[in-house]
Amino acid sequence: MPEMPEIQAHAERLTAEFAGRVLTKFTPFTFTALKTAVPGPDTAYGEALRGVGRRGKYLLLDFGATSFVVHLMQGGRLLVDTKLSAKPRGGQARFVFAPVVGDDDKIHNDALLLTEQGSERRAGVWCVDTANMATSPPLDKLGPEAATITAEELATLFAANSMRVHGFLRDQRMIAGVGRRLANEVCHTARISPFANTRKLGAPGAQQVVDALQQCIAEGLAYERTRGDMSSSKDRPSAVHAQTGERCPVCGDTIRAVSYSGYTVNYCPTCQTDGKILADNTTSKFLK
Ligand SMILES: [Zn+2]
Repeated sequence: MPEMPEIQAHAERLTAEFAGRVLTKFTPFTFTALKTAVPGPDTAYGEALRGVGRRGKYLLLDFGATSFVVHLMQGGRLLVDTKLSAKPRGGQARFVFAPVVGDDDKIHNDALLLTEQGSERRAGVWCVDTANMATSPPLDKLGPEAATITAEELATLFAANSMRVHGFLRDQRMIAGVGRRLANEVCHTARISPFANTRKLGAPGAQQVVDALQQCIAEGLAYERTRGDMSSSKDRPSAVHAQTGERCPVCGDTIRAVSYSGYTVNYCPTCQTDGKILADNTTSKFLK
């Protein structure tokens, strides 16, 4: 699933390409693509796209008083659509803009197409009043942004929520923007066990995690900004994520995998657990 760096860089590319374009139509292709009834998408017709922002893992298309919140989930993509076919493959919804004459003197009548491959159909669009966006679904339950949370804020959350740190990092109600890959990389960079208890980590642990978040997000953003499209998770340079059996780039130990809540968690024993091999002792294995 795309995480904060991928979504942020994608928002920047979409802003560069589509800011100023006037929305003429929003077309959902499935019954589940549009998650809201009021306000209607037509309230944004005739409005220019101010820009594409981001909150957590959501893209925010700002048309002034009305905004569209887009969640890509696992396999969703918001792509430039030049074909405008009646039934686009994997199509969930389309934002159609008024044609413009480009620098090349050609008419551009491209659109933005939300696609989702596979059968899950979980990607979707919320049409919201911009003024109430932060306090309306789906953004209302999100925790602070992963890139800007302070060590003090994180220490407070750690003290109030006794959880395994890997699960905490992935929980969007705790902090927003981190998925499986970043959680793996942040724990490795912070040199803490993915199974460490947040309450026991305390203020010193919160400082280590904030430093690691900032470093890993900066590295992810730097990579994503070199790209013309959003990377897939296997493309992203990673020290431990999806590196099971490979050498740790820090110490040379073998990267391990452990199953946790249905996820595969990667870690380096030497860097993170004093050499201890983590056992899958969660109940998740009994539920499969
Ligand atoms: Zn290591």
